[in-house]
Amino acid sequence: MLKNLTKDECAQCRLCCIFDKYDVWETPVITDELKGRIEAEHSELRFVSKGDSGAYIFNMEDTWDEKEELYFCPALDRQKGCILGENKPFDCKVWPYRIMRLGGALVISIASICPVMYKKPLDTLIEELESGLADRIFGEAEKHPQIVKPYEQGYPILMVREKE
Ligand code: SF4
Repeated sequence: MLKNLTKDECAQCRLCCIFDKYDVWETPVITDELKGRIEAEHSELRFVSKGDSGAYIFNMEDTWDEKEELYFCPALDRQKGCILGENKPFDCKVWPYRIMRLGGALVISIASICPVMYKKPLDTLIEELESGLADRIFGEAEKHPQIVKPYEQGYPILMVREKE
């Protein structure tokens, strides 16, 4: 989905599918409708409710790797990558762009942990967002407010949409 990030670059990395104790809040949010589609194909995956938002996240309890001190997303096949295909959560489709709420505004930020995108010139990122991606991200946030995370200090803000 992102034109500035190739499948090969993602395949060699997968940092966005692995979480330490401090960034486990970054796990993808799954809407009720998407949960149904994932369950139909992958009955082995388990979910937990995300508070009373009506959305879910993956149950990561059994994915803690004691040696590496990391959680691995249960949808990650360590050899082949994400097993979800088109049913990947929206969060993952647009990562490392993040949709966050800051005060009354929605902001699109970027995760510094992505070794490829974080090194791109600012104008390249903005051009990608302005070519329709930002509208898609803001639109998804309006449709599914549960996917919006509170703004996290240290995430550079690339675009802001004030509440109308
Ligand atoms: S759902 Fe897929 S892309 Fe998203 S974190 Fe899990 S393995 Fe990675």
